[in-house]
Order: sequence, then C-alpha cells, then structure tokens
Amino acid sequence: MTALLSVEKLEARHGLLHAVRDVSLEVAEGETVAIVGANGAGKTTLLRSIAGAHRPSGGRVVFAGEDVTRMPAHRRVKRGIALVPEGRRLFPELTVEENLRVAAGVRRPGRWDVDAVLEVFPLLEPLREKRAASLSGGEQQATAIGRALMSNPRLLLLDEVSLGLAPVVVDAVYRSLATLLESGATVLLVEQDLSRALGVADRVVCMLEGRFVLVGTPAELTREQVMEAYFGLRRSAA
Ligand code: ATP
Repeated sequence: MTALLSVEKLEARHGLLHAVRDVSLEVAEGETVAIVGANGAGKTTLLRSIAGAHRPSGGRVVFAGEDVTRMPAHRRVKRGIALVPEGRRLFPELTVEENLRVAAGVRRPGRWDVDAVLEVFPLLEPLREKRAASLSGGEQQATAIGRALMSNPRLLLLDEVSLGLAPVVVDAVYRSLATLLESGATVLLVEQDLSRALGVADRVVCMLEGRFVLVGTPAELTREQVMEAYFGLRRSAA
C-alpha cells in the first residue's frame, strides 16, 4: 500500500535546539497513528513541520506522492493536510458556527459541512451561536477539530487532544473521534494520555528527545515497554 503521508529523515530545530532528529514515518490512508512522549520530546514540532507551520532543517515531507517540504501551510491545507494546533487557537469573538465557517476559503470538496460536523460533535449543536471565548475547554477542542474537518482534509493532525480537559469531557471528544475514525479518516495525533492513545490508534510511536524510540501496534506493545520508552528508562539504566 502506498502511504498517504511519508516523512523521511526529518530534522527540525529551534535555533540551536535540535527538536526532531532523523524521524521517518509513513501513514497509510485510513490509518490512525498516535505519537506519545514526554513534554519537550518534539511531538508538536514534528506535527507543525508536517503541517507547514515549522520549517524543517532537513529531510522531506511527502504527501500523496508530492514533496510538500517547502510548501506553505495554506497550500498544504488545500492539498488536504489540516492541523488542530495545541491550545485550539479559535477566534474568541466569533461564534462556534462562525469559527467552523472560517475554513470556507480553503475548503476542498467533500462531505464535511456545518451540519456534518454537528452530527459528529452533538455537544456543539446547542452552542452554535455561542462565542468561542465562552466555551469550556472540551467544547473548544470539539470546535477546533470541527473547524479542521471543514476543510475536508485527507489527513487530520491533532495535537494534544486531551490536554487540560476533564476526563468526562475527554470521553465525549474521543467518542466523536471514534465515529470519525470508523468513517475511514486518516489521523496522526499527539496524545499524552497513554491509555487513550493505545485505545484509539492502529499504531503507536513513542518519541524521546526528538527521536522515535518505539513503534508498534497496541497489540504488540506492552504498557511497560511504552512507559520505558516514554521516560527513557532503559537508556538511563544502561
Ligand atoms: P509538549 O508536550 O511540551 O508540547 P512536545 O513533545 O510537543 O512537548 P515540542 O513542543 O515539539 O515538544 O518541543 C521540542 C523541544 O523544542 C523542547 O525542548 C522545546 O522546549 C523546544 N521548543 C519548542 N518550541 C520552541 C520555540 N518556538 N522556540 C524554542 N524552542 C522551542
């Protein structure tokens, strides 16, 4: 099967800090891949590099057979890459519906419109006319994912899905995500909550200090292995 996304030997820096080191990853159409790892492991920088929000210092990002490494973010959205950034970044003064419609300018043809988003995220239906600033964290996360869907992406990049959300709200967001995944969406997500990541992903990648240190299906990996990779225990014990 040819990969929808192919990341090849990617390197990314923040000044002198080498945040992503020699990372290679393929994501097939319809696959869900979760990236886990401690704070500062480089997960966000990797996702931003794929979306075009951060310029890599080496390697390539190939999407649907096209080298997009140097392509600006807005053009990648048109190609079908949508990022839900850490912190959601909604327009606080706009309503939920207006936030969803903001993506109108970069919409690709496809099944996602306001009604389809509200169907997958029913918690947003009564909030359509509410300003984003007045929403809870979970409602904002749902709106941010909905906004990304409105571009009709082929690949959805989700950063820190459950960060800062109450467990009951995370449950609601993940229920909606499960519906999305069942419909065949291709998703690369960053998740600090290991159980959630193992529960939803076809494949889990563990990142430590900018590198991939463990890759496998949830069935192949034990929780212990992932925890060791997560905190670099094996390395420090050696
Ligand atoms: P977190 O869960 O905390 O977001 P992460 O795994 O997503 O962690 P990144 O945010 O990609 O990691 O950060 C990787 C490294 O790059 C960290 O050491 C971080 O301090 C550094 N870094 C991230 N963004 C910047 C920036 N804009 N300027 C300088 N250094 C940065």
